[in-house]
Amino acid sequence: MIIGSHVSFGEKQLLGSLEEAISYNANALMFYTGAPQNTIRKPISDKLLDDAINYAKENNFDFNNIVCHAPYIINLANKSQADKWDFSINFLINEIKRCEKLGVNKIVLHPGSSVGITQEEGLDNIIEALKIILENDTSVNILLETMAGKGNECGRTIDQIAYIINNVNSNLLKVCVDTCHINDAGYNVNEFDQYLEEFDQKIGIDKIYCIHLNDSKNILGSHKDRHENIGFGEIGFEALYKVLTNKKLENIPKILETPYLAVTDKIKKAPYKEEIAMLRKGTFDKDVFKDILNI
Ligand code: FE
Ligand code: FE
Ligand code: ZN
Repeated sequence: MIIGSHVSFGEKQLLGSLEEAISYNANALMFYTGAPQNTIRKPISDKLLDDAINYAKENNFDFNNIVCHAPYIINLANKSQADKWDFSINFLINEIKRCEKLGVNKIVLHPGSSVGITQEEGLDNIIEALKIILENDTSVNILLETMAGKGNECGRTIDQIAYIINNVNSNLLKVCVDTCHINDAGYNVNEFDQYLEEFDQKIGIDKIYCIHLNDSKNILGSHKDRHENIGFGEIGFEALYKVLTNKKLENIPKILETPYLAVTDKIKKAPYKEEIAMLRKGTFDKDVFKDILNI
């Protein structure tokens, strides 16, 4: 079972991310190289990176199970403001370079949002941008995330993701399947085998390089994108557990992006240690957060 969560990338950079992941008993992790909403980035420290590599080795943490997530503000779909489109492209190229330096070979990307243009135009802009980005010689895979279809989000259907992948035609372009997003986009996670079958026909199951394992606060097809803790949402524990343990996806990191728990008005706590333990066990416990919430 390869499972982890979203963790922070703070002062201690990847070393801190690894420490946080290991505190949750995780063997995978995902981080943003800086705040997801902005593009301020600190240089990667060689010393901290060395320490991170050693720490990972000591703890048998495989770098193949480390995933980076590009910031939300990158939008490759919209070219109407050319300077912003160029900025998004250049920023992603730089994030890829940071991944290379860190020894991380996967970066998750939200395909983009087609504001004021059609979805078709948005998809074509994304294809054009990805071709430019992938002209650079790199070993980092770009994982397009399946989106909920909130607002003008592109990448809401298997067909849209297939259209991008088939037109960019690069072996570095892969997919990250988010269970909350596909539920909200209208694919029933309780019938995940059917989803995988369609995915395999149109894209190829070998392109799935990461799973975002989240429950959803909203019903099938709601196009909302609000994550819920595992087993507490509309998808439910059984369906998510089946995704986690699917033999075809055995070697792929599963990453939790479930919401923090509000202990008090001011204190929030990560649910990941408890959720990971519950998922490793394989049985849902509605009281799993009891100890965290009673401080
Ligand atoms: Fe995402
Ligand atoms: Fe996600
Ligand atoms: Zn989401």
